[in-house]
Amino acid sequence: MNFLTDEQIAWKDSVHRWVDRDVGREYIRQCDMDRAFPYDAYEKAAKLGFHRLLVPEADGGDGGDIFAYALMCEALSIYGVDFSVAIAGGIFTAMNLALHGTPWQKKTYLEPFMRGEVRFPISMSEPNAGSDVANVQTRAERDGDHYVLNGQKLWCSGASNRGAMILMLVRTERTQDKRNGLSVIIVPNDTPGLTIRPLQTLARRSVVTTEIFLDNVRLPATNMLGAPGEGWKIIAGEHLSLERIAVAASYVGNAQGAVNDALAYAQQRVQFGKPIYEFQVLRHMLADMQTQTDAARLITYRAAELASRGLPCRKEVAMAKLFASETLQTVTRQGMQIMGGHGMVPESDMERYFREGMQSTIGGGTSQVQRTIIAQEMRV
Ligand SMILES: Cc1cc2nc3c(=O)[nH]c(=O)nc-3n(C[C@H](O)[C@H](O)[C@H](O)COP(=O)(O)OP(=O)(O)OC[C@H]3O[C@@H](n4cnc5c(N)ncnc54)[C@H](O)[C@@H]3O)c2cc1C
Repeated sequence: MNFLTDEQIAWKDSVHRWVDRDVGREYIRQCDMDRAFPYDAYEKAAKLGFHRLLVPEADGGDGGDIFAYALMCEALSIYGVDFSVAIAGGIFTAMNLALHGTPWQKKTYLEPFMRGEVRFPISMSEPNAGSDVANVQTRAERDGDHYVLNGQKLWCSGASNRGAMILMLVRTERTQDKRNGLSVIIVPNDTPGLTIRPLQTLARRSVVTTEIFLDNVRLPATNMLGAPGEGWKIIAGEHLSLERIAVAASYVGNAQGAVNDALAYAQQRVQFGKPIYEFQVLRHMLADMQTQTDAARLITYRAAELASRGLPCRKEVAMAKLFASETLQTVTRQGMQIMGGHGMVPESDMERYFREGMQSTIGGGTSQVQRTIIAQEMRV
């Protein structure tokens, strides 16, 4: 990847070194096994300024670009996608505040986020609003200076963690086009009337995916992000594009981690008197794995570069999300095969990569949804 600038290479390497030396794969593995959020690493990352990266300088951030963010996500995920989502996933949600927040919201929520004191889960999905995310039914009704929320959210990753300020997509109005009546409101996870239950999901174990019940949850109207009715514009436009670039880069990073681990294993595992790497069938599997990972990296860099320059990239972002997620699944399945029985235990890490890979074609918009977007954008 020698077309990266020296500065970009140095940035990616520095994040990579931090994960390797200061965090370590054992810590990441243990968080997954304990279903425990990596609070220590999160606080260290915030001290290093990771959470300031994308926030504009005028709001106290470093004003970095989306490409730098993608490189960070790639480097963070070498030992697992969930770790990258735990550390850097809040950044794509925080950008909704940077772009649409009032001065009070920025002071109350964005500044503590940059110091590592709060986290920003995103809660769009509901039992009847999955791929059809505009079908959100959770109501927020105006009552004087407050909104009162009732309903149920599903699959919100990170909502039960300490200091979680949930950005929630809610319905403020019933409109003919269901996209028009949606709004985003900031919901601190200790607000009375909320019940948050962790789910025993296959992936996102350390981030902790939850279901949320809202029973007359009262929030000041000052917690509304943007104007009422702007929810679809915020979420379907800017938010999902940035989220998909971040996760695509994370899938690439973890696919590379899986290739590295499979290669190292094949070189040291001896059967029939020689390392299994000597068997051509395995060498070819590894060659395919690396080739597909490099292709996923390139298509993701293209999307990140276009987004960094503010150019239209709906199709390219969907392609990156689609191809990088399917690459992670292919590569980790092959990695499991190369490791034989040894891949099945947590200490191999491959079974975790494989599990986390299964989430990648579902969360943030399924592969089918990405293909639909790509087809919509195709022109002769
Ligand atoms: C572990 C985990 C963590 C998550 N974290 C979050 C989170 O933090 N915040 C959040 O808001 N959500 C989160 N999600 C939800 C995730 O975004 C949804 O699961 C996803 O959007 C798909 O919705 P669904 O599961 O309801 O599937 P459905 O929409 O019911 O889809 C089921 C199947 O039908 C296909 N399908 C649906 N509609 C179409 C169509 N029009 N054309 C072709 N195929 C179609 C889908 O591709 C899929 O294969 C998480 C999910 C998981 C599993």
